[in-house]
Amino acid sequence: MQAGCTLKLNTFVDEVEHVNGKVVSVGLKTKSTRTKLIANMFIDATGDGDIAVAAGAKYEMGRKSDGLTQPVSALFKMSYIDMDAFIDYTQKNRNEFIWVSYPILPPNLPAFFADRMVCLSGFNNLIAQGQQSGELYLGRERITLFSDYRKGDMLFNATRLNRIDATSNEDLIRAEIDLREQVISLVAFARKYLPGFSQASLSSAASRVGVRETRRIMGDYVLNQEDVLRGRKFDDGIAKGCFPVDIHSPHDKTNVWVELNDAYDIPYRCLLPIGLDNVLLAGRNMSATHEALASSRVQSHCMAMGQAAGLAAAMASQEKVGTREISVASLQNNLRAQRAIVAGDL
Ligand SMILES: Cc1cc2nc3c(=O)[nH]c(=O)nc-3n(C[C@H](O)[C@H](O)[C@H](O)COP(=O)(O)OP(=O)(O)OC[C@H]3O[C@@H](n4cnc5c(N)ncnc54)[C@H](O)[C@@H]3O)c2cc1C
Repeated sequence: MQAGCTLKLNTFVDEVEHVNGKVVSVGLKTKSTRTKLIANMFIDATGDGDIAVAAGAKYEMGRKSDGLTQPVSALFKMSYIDMDAFIDYTQKNRNEFIWVSYPILPPNLPAFFADRMVCLSGFNNLIAQGQQSGELYLGRERITLFSDYRKGDMLFNATRLNRIDATSNEDLIRAEIDLREQVISLVAFARKYLPGFSQASLSSAASRVGVRETRRIMGDYVLNQEDVLRGRKFDDGIAKGCFPVDIHSPHDKTNVWVELNDAYDIPYRCLLPIGLDNVLLAGRNMSATHEALASSRVQSHCMAMGQAAGLAAAMASQEKVGTREISVASLQNNLRAQRAIVAGDL
């Protein structure tokens, strides 16, 4: 608001008017109004590439073999956990966890802040027993837990539902119901079997289904697995990627997790949908393969792409040119001036 933006909250973009590779306007629908927004430049950060697809952009969805995408999940939080009991248990039973770490908070925090923290993934045997006996309904083979800042609170990344097309409302409704059943089941299970959880309760749950992957819009360059794993550098890099390749299996309860040795560049071309001159992509609808997106989809990368797309749109609009006609070197310098890290900086 300080920068003079008008917020269009609770607004859905539906109709897209386009002529000769240029989007002219988008229709904005709210509960009470239907209007049209005319602009020089459009940034599609819908996650699903709604604007680009409506303007005719090509896209792919899911893995090559069967088109299945990464699963959806609902995160939730439990409170009133005896963290000392829980953390002591993790330290004595290290072999039950795929990974575990104990973040250290700075001193002199308010009294309600956690004094001991833990983040971990595991409890595979306990989860398997619960699933086999029918006591636990959960779409994953293990649970991942993060201490929250407030003493006694932990966040759960543990539910999972496969074979959901998150661009289909019917599928999203099905997922909403199923994932809530998983949350309810796991909360009861945690209270009964996790150390320190006997007095804990559910304190919040995601208000909507968390979506990892839908349409990947095909751009001038398609970031691929080799680029990510080899830490490939590009002259038109506008952001750095550093997160491991994290594929939550589209068909079962397992995970693929491949660490990177080096950061890779996300090229400007991955933000440019083929055939469209005034549309930029930002976020998980970027141009990438299923495997590359398993790394590039994380929040820091999405934010960096958003910053680059916003600057590029402003430059193209001011210069009255298309997205492919701006100087990428100037874009990179403008990003550096905003303290972003781009090609050649690392
Ligand atoms: C369960 C889960 C756990 C994750 N854990 C982590 C993690 O620990 N760390 C991490 O960095 N990343 C994590 N991620 C990945 C990361 O959160 C997402 O990939 C990232 O937030 C995607 O951002 P986005 O802005 O591209 O898309 P989204 O977050 O999907 O945002 C798209 C936005 O566009 C809006 N929208 C969609 N269509 C329209 C339309 N037609 N008109 C108007 N608005 C529209 C939506 O309402 C939404 O607000 C996780 C993801 C999930 C699902």
